[in-house]
Amino acid sequence: MIAIVGGGISGLALGVSLVRAGVEVRVFEAKREVGGVIRTLSVGEHTLELGPQRLRGTPGVLAHLQGRAIHRVGPEHARIFVVRGGTLHPLPRSLPEFLRSRAISVRGKARAALEPLVALLPAQPGASAADLLRRRLGSEVYRAFAGPLLGGLYGSDPEEIDAERTVRPAMRTLGIRTFAGAIAGGSSALPEAPVVVPAEGMVGLPRALAEEVRDFAPHALLTDTPVRRVHRLDPGRFLLETPAGSHEAEVVVLTTPPPATARLLGPVAPTAAEQIGSLRMNPIEMVHLEVPELPAGLGFKVAFGEGLPIRGATWSGNLDGRGRTAVVYLEPSRVGPDGPGAHADPTDAMTMAAESFTAVTGIPAHPIHHHCARMPAWDRSWRALDGLSLPDGIHLLGSYTGRPGIPGRLAAGASLARTLVEARHRGRSQDGSGVP
Ligand SMILES: Cc1cc2nc3c(=O)[nH]c(=O)nc-3n(C[C@H](O)[C@H](O)[C@H](O)COP(=O)(O)OP(=O)(O)OC[C@H]3O[C@@H](n4cnc5c(N)ncnc54)[C@H](O)[C@@H]3O)c2cc1C
Repeated sequence: MIAIVGGGISGLALGVSLVRAGVEVRVFEAKREVGGVIRTLSVGEHTLELGPQRLRGTPGVLAHLQGRAIHRVGPEHARIFVVRGGTLHPLPRSLPEFLRSRAISVRGKARAALEPLVALLPAQPGASAADLLRRRLGSEVYRAFAGPLLGGLYGSDPEEIDAERTVRPAMRTLGIRTFAGAIAGGSSALPEAPVVVPAEGMVGLPRALAEEVRDFAPHALLTDTPVRRVHRLDPGRFLLETPAGSHEAEVVVLTTPPPATARLLGPVAPTAAEQIGSLRMNPIEMVHLEVPELPAGLGFKVAFGEGLPIRGATWSGNLDGRGRTAVVYLEPSRVGPDGPGAHADPTDAMTMAAESFTAVTGIPAHPIHHHCARMPAWDRSWRALDGLSLPDGIHLLGSYTGRPGIPGRLAAGASLARTLVEARHRGRSQDGSGVP
């Protein structure tokens, strides 16, 4: 049996692929509801998202959502804006839009045009994502567009993000040689898939995956079942303790966030546990606002140096039936030796968020909910993973081991499933037990 600890999108993506391949699986989820950081909350007439707000409806995502009601926004309406010089500017999606943009000076545009030449220079060892983007695009485009976008994607300050573990692998995966080329349409990096949200909220995606798992193997998914400890019985055999009893497994995949993974790994791999335990998780502090009307597009990012206490805002309320709400993401209240911190007083945070939203959009706003999620920081603390070694039969899968976005998580789950299925087939043909 393969034991998957965690019923977030990573664990479910792996679980679906394995049960489809006929492998015996148990997915253990600590909470009553699957989805992990993908959480949807109903407050009065509003559907509030506490994690991702929406996702790209790629063919893979839409296949999972088949049969469920979904709202779609066509690419023509999926505009993001940038606040620069106190004004909202559309984020350019093509070379002509970039050249026309009033958010960047002529000098800034000319500097960015040098990227194909700069790209030929050797990589700087130990560079941060900010170093890489500034060097490629110049500091103006970095501060206006590239820095805020990347910071929002990883929930971290690009000065702290390690380029070798984030930007460079993402460029390789997406086939981007230069950002200028990607913007000019020279790569498939800018997906045209529509933006979608399941009608029941984002939690519809993990629920759909959970149903797929149960369709193939009715008892494979155990919710409300936290794994308390993992023991190694002998090579290739593990025992997982839960409040409802113990389960034996030949393979254990931990899809839990770094702190929980470190606790579970402690008895079986103390050094790896210490390394993973030292990874930083950043707060993503958000305030949901009720607003009488919503601006065009799907949100805005704040350019660096604007002096606002927020990183940006997002809204999907133009999608049918989701009420008029926007979500504002706050700047950390402080950055200490342990990384960024959230505001001590949620009421202050709520007032600040509403005032900033109104200052940018001119639309009055009433705060209705405050939430602080945590996201892997992908910062220099990731160097702790150098030389990580795990016992045979233990695997890690999560938003701190590969691309954190939902499409990346789905792909990583499917890819690990292929590896595990191949390993089982190889093992069976080697030990003579038949089925290749
Ligand atoms: C605020 C926020 C906004 C985001 N926005 C976007 C976005 O717009 N687009 C996008 O593509 N991605 C976005 N992401 C990233 C993406 O949502 C996450 O990377 C992804 O959902 C993480 O899934 P996961 O399964 O790896 O981890 P998690 O969701 O953390 O799942 C881990 C699961 O393990 C369970 N667990 C923990 N301990 C135990 C235990 N002992 N036993 C059993 N189960 C346990 C937890 O309950 C949880 O369900 C966002 C993330 C956050 C936090």
